[in-house]
Amino acid sequence: MNKYQLGLGLLLMMANPLFAQKKKVEKTFKEKEAIGHFTYLASDELMGRDPIRPEMELAYTYIADELMKAGAKPLATADGYYQNIPFRMSSPPTQGSIQLGKTSYEQGVDLLVLDGKSISGSYELVDIGFGTAAELEGKDLKGKIAISNVGAPDRLGPADLFALGREKTQKVQEMGAIALIEKFNVPSVPWQMISNYLNRTTLGVDQGESSELPYIWVKDLDNTIRAAMAEDNLSEAALKIEGKTTKTVEGKNVVAYIEGTDPALKDEYIMLSAHYDHVGVGKPDAEGDSIYNGARDNAVGTVAVMNAAKYFAKNPPKRSVLLALWTAEEKGLLGSGYFANNPLVPLDQIIFNLNIDNGGYNDTSVVTVIGLGRTSGDAHISEAVKEFGLEAIADPSPEQGLYDRSDNVNFARKGIPAPTFSLGFQAFDDEIQKYYHKPGDHVENFDLDYAVKYWKSYILAAELIANDPNQPIWVAGDKYEEAGKSLYGLD
Ligand SMILES: [Zn+2]
Repeated sequence: MNKYQLGLGLLLMMANPLFAQKKKVEKTFKEKEAIGHFTYLASDELMGRDPIRPEMELAYTYIADELMKAGAKPLATADGYYQNIPFRMSSPPTQGSIQLGKTSYEQGVDLLVLDGKSISGSYELVDIGFGTAAELEGKDLKGKIAISNVGAPDRLGPADLFALGREKTQKVQEMGAIALIEKFNVPSVPWQMISNYLNRTTLGVDQGESSELPYIWVKDLDNTIRAAMAEDNLSEAALKIEGKTTKTVEGKNVVAYIEGTDPALKDEYIMLSAHYDHVGVGKPDAEGDSIYNGARDNAVGTVAVMNAAKYFAKNPPKRSVLLALWTAEEKGLLGSGYFANNPLVPLDQIIFNLNIDNGGYNDTSVVTVIGLGRTSGDAHISEAVKEFGLEAIADPSPEQGLYDRSDNVNFARKGIPAPTFSLGFQAFDDEIQKYYHKPGDHVENFDLDYAVKYWKSYILAAELIANDPNQPIWVAGDKYEEAGKSLYGLD
């Protein structure tokens, strides 16, 4: 750099403080190291970062070590750098069939065993309606199978069906029933989708709800069973259910923080988050590759948060920075949901969540911010990415409902402004589908120059928000505005 250039640089810095901050990010950023993390996290060795596989330990210990090396501190409320989550893994039965009169039902086709031990034999059926307290009163269920409709007349959403099912299971078990069969007759909840989801190994947060009682759904959209019980005196069921297994698995969110420098603002946190899990090993592609490496989804985001940890440990902003790498996003946003319900930092002290999640990219001139236009943090994000030659654009495919399909939504629902800072995409098109949840989602086919710009602009966006004396808020009329006001006691 000659004298003239030096002078020009100083001049630019004075005219534009952002330029100085950008230079600081540029100077601190270790490109080779970041690409090294990226390559390792998306390597075959980690077998697709599946929370139910043993290789997941390689992922979370690596991330925790790097946060520690970077100088981020463990939260006093955490287990070192981890938030431990009790997961329960459940596999479908190896055999599951029920004969009800003339009709037989098969596991995965029109029958789903949701819980309980093996059972076989013929047993008397007792119709309990929806299984309300009034309907159960005076019923003799001892040694019999209780049969009910799913849900309740006024509660037929998917979450209601599961929650009410648990309650009914408990009640009929206390009354001596040996199984609960629910007739699934809710056309608004697609059976095929539910069946695809539940007829495989699933993971959920262990609520201590595991039941010995066989709990079964049978597809009954045309009310065949009710008709058979009324008209053909159907009063018995023959069951053969075997080999369903459940097991507890310990999940780990990786969490750490960097203390802010401002005596007043350091009690507030900006949360930088990304999920580090992916979908594991599955169906091979045409090349025979069966490891779903998840470079785009979401090793690139995990590395963004690791890079930010390194930068902010050296350059702490006014507010404190909370770093969070979620597990089991791909199993239903489980890790972030667990944190949102069991927060290690009071949620009203988390003033913003800049989350990262990705399907892929098809435009390396932009960063797609899912939720741009919804909070007053937008200007900082747009300015920051512009410094690195990129443009921030809003979600181009709102019909995909991406905002409500990733970890950020668990915090938005609590009121925390929480956009997702994603790789640039202009449409959820074939170019995205080529890698989205495919074994070919590798670092080797990733534009690393773009990755570096994306990582740097994430740091700068976070820095601007963390230093802004004004707390970002939801725009008026947003569906989460009220939640925000009540969380922070604003108004
Ligand atoms: Zn993802």
